[in-house]
Amino acid sequence: MRAIVYEEPGKYRLKEVANPQAKDNEIVIKVEACGLCRTDLHLYKGEFIADFPLIPGHEFSGEIVEVAKNVKSFKVGEKVVADNTILCGKCYYCTRDKDLFCENFRSLGCNEAGGFAEYVKVREEKVFPIHGLSPEEATFTEPISCGIHGVDVIDPQPGDNALLFGAGPTGIILSQLLKYNGVTNLVVAAPTQFKLDIVRRLAADEVIMVNRNDYSEHEEIIGGKYPRGFDIVVDATGASTMAERLIKFTKYGGKVIF
Ligand SMILES: [Zn+2]
Ligand SMILES: [Zn+2]
Repeated sequence: MRAIVYEEPGKYRLKEVANPQAKDNEIVIKVEACGLCRTDLHLYKGEFIADFPLIPGHEFSGEIVEVAKNVKSFKVGEKVVADNTILCGKCYYCTRDKDLFCENFRSLGCNEAGGFAEYVKVREEKVFPIHGLSPEEATFTEPISCGIHGVDVIDPQPGDNALLFGAGPTGIILSQLLKYNGVTNLVVAAPTQFKLDIVRRLAADEVIMVNRNDYSEHEEIIGGKYPRGFDIVVDATGASTMAERLIKFTKYGGKVIF
């Protein structure tokens, strides 16, 4: 099959590789769509948990073309999406029900073969039917799952007000999840007008333009309007410099997430 292969940091090729073969409880999916996110850029540079050579792509969806003999709940032809993580279930964190911190964490598209290929192999328990979603829509399952995990951690309460920095895909997804999970007043701050327009239409009660060159501008606006701060302050920009600036917008007893 053809696949994108990251061969070393900063270098990739479209090349011919062996097709995955399903065994035991494995399923082979013919990839129909695969999303890209900043994680892919980190992996491309050899950062995060990259393990080369690597077929990237952790946000894939497609059609089942092969099921191994022990697979019970899926058939060839079904449209599916997959959880790309592989957790050991035995390490210090897994045995304490904190398996996202698994010490033997493997991830399709990060350090195991992922979805930028014609076919990808996944274990049955990580496969989910997409029930009529388009392949492109289904690729959002992975980033939305990350957002839902974020909301689980934030645990918003009815009546909370929240300030969220960033209106990229993660910010837009998180905004909607916060709004539909109890946040009463959601303010989103970001530097790009068209993204603010999207988030305003979908979830935010108020949007504030961020001046990347002069943080004091938007910080004064926010501080002036919300002198007591917010119950929840979230950074969805991924910029480490942002984290330390969040606290000044947080109410006493509030939550900061980055
Ligand atoms: Zn991603
Ligand atoms: Zn583990």
